[in-house]
Amino acid sequence: MKEINAIDFQSEVLNGGRVVVDFYSTECAPCEALAPKFDAMAELYGEKIKFFKIFRQGNRDLATELGVSSSPTLLFFDQGKQVTDSISGGIKKSEIIERLDSMLSPEEIIEIKANQKATVSEYDVAILGGGPAGLTAGIYLGQAKVKTVIIDPALPGGYMAITHQVSNYPGFVEAQPGFMLAHFMGEQAKHTGIDLKVAVDVTSVDLVKKEIVIDELETIRAKKIIIATGTSPNTMNAPGEKEYKGKGISYCATCDAKYFGDKDVTVIGGGNSAVEEALFITKFAKKVTMVHQFDKLTANQTAIDTLKSNEKIHVLYEHEPRNFEKVNGKMVATLENLKTKELVKLESDGVFVFIGFKANVGILGDTLPAMDKWGYIITDEDMHTNLPDVYAIGDIISKKYRQITTAVADGTIAAITISKEL
Ligand SMILES: Cc1cc2nc3c(=O)[nH]c(=O)nc-3n(C[C@H](O)[C@H](O)[C@H](O)COP(=O)(O)OP(=O)(O)OC[C@H]3O[C@@H](n4cnc5c(N)ncnc54)[C@H](O)[C@@H]3O)c2cc1C
Repeated sequence: MKEINAIDFQSEVLNGGRVVVDFYSTECAPCEALAPKFDAMAELYGEKIKFFKIFRQGNRDLATELGVSSSPTLLFFDQGKQVTDSISGGIKKSEIIERLDSMLSPEEIIEIKANQKATVSEYDVAILGGGPAGLTAGIYLGQAKVKTVIIDPALPGGYMAITHQVSNYPGFVEAQPGFMLAHFMGEQAKHTGIDLKVAVDVTSVDLVKKEIVIDELETIRAKKIIIATGTSPNTMNAPGEKEYKGKGISYCATCDAKYFGDKDVTVIGGGNSAVEEALFITKFAKKVTMVHQFDKLTANQTAIDTLKSNEKIHVLYEHEPRNFEKVNGKMVATLENLKTKELVKLESDGVFVFIGFKANVGILGDTLPAMDKWGYIITDEDMHTNLPDVYAIGDIISKKYRQITTAVADGTIAAITISKEL
């Protein structure tokens, strides 16, 4: 795997046979999570397909020319022509494999897969999710000498890793960059001697058998499972949203806001994360238009006051997106005025979406723990779910307040409970 730039692009990619290119940025948690997966793929497929990385900030014109407007983005080429669709954002190993395999013959695929071996390992506790909840449980279990593994498709840290400033985590006078808190929590967990299997694909989970398969070949068996998989951003399900995800529509301000220097940006949402992220985007953009469905913002009052004193931000109340399209390189959102039903067009250079979250229960298999009506897992005060030896902690559980401190508290309680039960 080699780092190249725009000058090498012609010789290495356009004249280079079968090639995959990773456009990455700095301060981009999904880019960091992709890096070890990309390295692993390069090791496996490297003899048949060339793997290159291009630093997007340093090669902006080339990225724009190729339609790359989100980090990371993977592009696939054969004989100078782009083949298969590009992928961006939180990229899974299986998504890369699917595209690489489509570039090879069946014989070549069999040859490559023959190098992979299945394994089985046993633990006392398997923790699904390495955000603040899972990492804290890992720290306490590691210190209690309980054989523990944390499994995560991304790198350790969860949402902390993509929060630019955390000002309310106790112990720090000044606001801390979220990725530093994530880094230190991850290192502290590793230091206790537990295993971290991160940047992996979670293939399947069986909460009854207590069996988790990762990367299709590695089976992990545990006496107890802690679910700490957090939440994912809601999508709007408006036509054009899927098509322009990573190509004009983004869900991560820390990853993509820096590319909107002196540009116009649209932010969809009006809760705490929308307001906080809109404020962050104004560090770069010249104008931010927030589109909110209600007649007032639903964020906390301090955040609203800061937003109102920021001249770069304008709020369009009682409007909802109905469609997204790209016209002459600009994103055009069609918005419905919820009062008059009138449709209006809003043009900008990019759209960011922050409209709430849903619990990540999708991968947990056929037998799921009991959940509340919003799909969050119900636990007792010791973090037991209704399934034997299955616990849940952090943002995924049914509770009132979702913060780093409350996630850390849940992780502590589950780990102490388990240490006493084992
Ligand atoms: C933009 C933003 C700003 C915020 N700012 C603050 C703040 O300033 N202060 C504060 O206290 N809180 C803040 N929060 C809230 C806080 O980040 C969360 O409450 C906290 O991170 C929840 O921790 P968690 O470990 O439960 O979940 P997460 O942090 O969401 O971590 C969940 C982890 O599980 C992993 N995962 C997902 N699916 C699977 C799977 N199938 N198998 C295994 N692992 C999986 C994810 O990759 C992730 O690493 C903010 C949240 C957002 C979105």
